[in-house]
Amino acid sequence: VKEDGKNNFQFYAPSMNEIVSKKMQLENGMRKALKQNEFRVVYQPQVEVATGKIIGVEALLRWHHPEWGVISPAEFIPIAEETGLILPIGEWVLHEACLQNKTWQQNGYQPLRMAVNISSRQFQQSNLVEMVRDTLTKTGLHPSFLELELTESIIQDSNQAVHKMQQLRDMGIHLSIDDFGTGYSSLSYLKTFPINTLKIDQTFTRNIYTDPKDASLVDTIINMAHNLNLKVIAEGVETEEQLQFLETKNCNEAQGYYFSRPISAEDLEVILGEEVA
Ligand code: C2E
Ligand code: CA
Ligand code: CA
Ligand code: CA
Repeated sequence: VKEDGKNNFQFYAPSMNEIVSKKMQLENGMRKALKQNEFRVVYQPQVEVATGKIIGVEALLRWHHPEWGVISPAEFIPIAEETGLILPIGEWVLHEACLQNKTWQQNGYQPLRMAVNISSRQFQQSNLVEMVRDTLTKTGLHPSFLELELTESIIQDSNQAVHKMQQLRDMGIHLSIDDFGTGYSSLSYLKTFPINTLKIDQTFTRNIYTDPKDASLVDTIINMAHNLNLKVIAEGVETEEQLQFLETKNCNEAQGYYFSRPISAEDLEVILGEEVA
């Protein structure tokens, strides 16, 4: 244990070491996971509220470690961001998701929009647009079937961000703002960002049926989005009541456990097959 003259430093030292070593374990683990194919992508349906039809899916990353079991993205994505490993991991997810979507189309399933999460570090990467373009070329997926989910944190570098978003939009890709309303940012970016969709964060959706304030916020977000010609998707929909509320407010799309948890490609195919039948 280090001695630096401050008693309490010595006291906290072990837990600091524990945190650092857990991080290092996860970092090394992620490097290995990329090489040894331990990552998987699961898919969560996005449903058109008016028709109840599945019109898209969100790709969500899962890590199946041989000893540690399934590790939640909430645990490893922040460390992947810190270490830069999010760049190769994010590229892998994008490729996997685009390829899967193309495969579904080739196998005759209804055309779906594939939503992929892009972290702010990934978005800031200078070759992001080329990387996305290459991935679409390699997988053969038409850009109109890809949506990138961005968070409000990319606003920090606003001019750069708008330019990149415009390049992606020019290719025909859809853009959405994830976790809308949780980023502590001003709303003025809604005037300049060339986005298609706002995703209402699940912290607002959760209590729309029980808390009049959340109900009012969600109602307001939907109206504002529609006035700006944006679509709205509510995430974290778990109950019939929440869905009914969203329907009366003309929310465009919904996603959440009420419809389905994130599931494997094979399990999703079963649902898609039933929808057609
Ligand atoms: P997110 O993008 O906001 O994804 C939504 C999260 O809510 C997912 O958690 C999903 O499983 C969960 N969820 C969906 N429906 C419901 C519901 O009805 N109720 C509740 N309580 N939760 C629901 P997950 O898969 O654990 O992912 C957590 C976060 O990790 C994601 O939040 C996203 O920020 C990040 N993430 C996941 N995959 C990727 C990825 O491929 N790339 C990047 N950059 N981030 C990812
Ligand atoms: Ca998301
Ligand atoms: Ca979200
Ligand atoms: Ca979130």
